[in-house]
This record gives sequence, structure tokens and C-alpha cells, in this order.
Amino acid sequence: MERFNLDRRSFLKAAGSIGALSVAGVGLVGQPRSAYANEGAFPEQKYGQPLEATVDPATGKLEVNEEVVVRYSACLGCYSSCGSRLKLDRQSGRLISVGGNPYHPSCAYPFLNFDEPLSEAYLSMSYASGKGNLTRGTSCGRGQATQDVYSQPDRITVPLKRAGKRGEGKWKPISWDDLIREVTEGGKLFLDAGEDREVEGFLALHDTKTPMNPDQPDLGPVSNQFVMLGGRGDGRTTIGTRFTNCFGSLNQYGHGAT
Ligand code: SF4
Repeated sequence: MERFNLDRRSFLKAAGSIGALSVAGVGLVGQPRSAYANEGAFPEQKYGQPLEATVDPATGKLEVNEEVVVRYSACLGCYSSCGSRLKLDRQSGRLISVGGNPYHPSCAYPFLNFDEPLSEAYLSMSYASGKGNLTRGTSCGRGQATQDVYSQPDRITVPLKRAGKRGEGKWKPISWDDLIREVTEGGKLFLDAGEDREVEGFLALHDTKTPMNPDQPDLGPVSNQFVMLGGRGDGRTTIGTRFTNCFGSLNQYGHGAT
């Protein structure tokens, strides 16, 4: 293993450079802040991901790297629905990293109010916040790993239509226009898969007056044949419930119910 000879001045320089990186979620826990503040000049970055901004820990001066786009969002890694903070390369649109959101109470304490400017978010994640503390914005490892979900090659990004018998595991990609047309108009949608049967679409089911089964009126109108399955309590369930009820069906139930 290579050994490093680090005298005190070199150490302070290194500590100073890490102080500059602290806005990107990197820092030395327990190092004296004066060590950061004593050094103004930081070495050119050679490794790792590009920083979205640097903050001079002595003066609080903020320099934003316009090549990196920062977006504050919410994590769907699990049910906790924490905030997340995404860094993207402006030119390529590549997702560089995922971290915690300093505006979100699950990620930071004290957290920032929504009306705080983005510049305050940068400052709050450095020792130059002037508030005597480091707000940070953290997320768990699973939240950070959502980046891999985004970039993994098997991620489904287009509608898939069954292209074989049920359970056969055969699917083919179709366009969003085809999806909407088929789901709305219905028809013999699975002829290619050898199924000569008519599938009812939304248009056929959008009937809130005719009983679904006159012999069993408690089943309600035809529109109750539309059933919405799944969704989570992060907004999708709310949208799903609203759509289903507007359609004229009572039959919406969520992820937990399945
Ligand atoms: S950051 Fe972690 S705990 Fe929070 S929602 Fe994402 S996966 Fe869940």
C-alpha cells in the first residue's frame, strides 16, 4: 500500500479542499472549521463527479457550476416518501447523482422552508451557512440507489403489450398512441396472440346508467366494470381514485389492498 507523508500545512490544504466539497455532500466529520476557513484556494478537481457549486467557507461566496443542473424531488425508493436531490449533467441530461433534499424534513433538520431560495440550499449544505450548523440533506442508501434503477438497461420506458398466452411471458413494445387507442376503443386486441375475442375498452364501459346486471342491481352500473388496481399513497392513489370516480366506478383500491 502506498504511504502518504502529510505535513500539517498539506493537511490543512487537503482539509480546505474538502470543505469546498462539502456542498456536494462530502466532508470531514469532526474537523475544526478553522481549518476550512484558513484556506481560500482549492485545487482543481480531477476525480469524481462534477460539483454543482462551491462555497467559500470563509466568506460564504457561492459559485454555481452551470454545467450541473440540480432538481429537488421526492424519492420513491420506499413508502417513506423522503425528499431527494438530483444532479444532472446539463449537456447530456445524464443523472449524475441522487442525494437528500434540504427542503424536506425527512432529509434535514432544521429543514429549509419552501420559499427559501436555491442559493440558500447550497449554503445550508456547507459550513458557510452562517447559522452555526450544517443542515445537509441526506438520504438512505436505498434512496441513493434509485439512480441505478433509473440507469439500468432493463427499465421499462414504453408500454408493453402481451404478445403470447397469459403467463407465457411474451411482450412487445407499443407506442403510447396505440396504448391509448386500444385501451379506449377496445376490439380484438390479442388476435396476434391467437385470441379471437372482443375486449371492451373505456368507451364501452363508460355507462353510468345501464345496470351491469339487471338481476343483481347491487353491482351498480356498467361503469363499475372498470377496476383500478394498485397505486401508492404518494399521489398516485389520489389521482387513480379521482380518475376512477370521475369515470363512474367505485372500484379503485390501492397497493396495500392487493
Ligand atoms: S430515501 Fe430511503 S427511506 Fe427515504 S423514501 Fe427513499 S428509499 Fe425510502
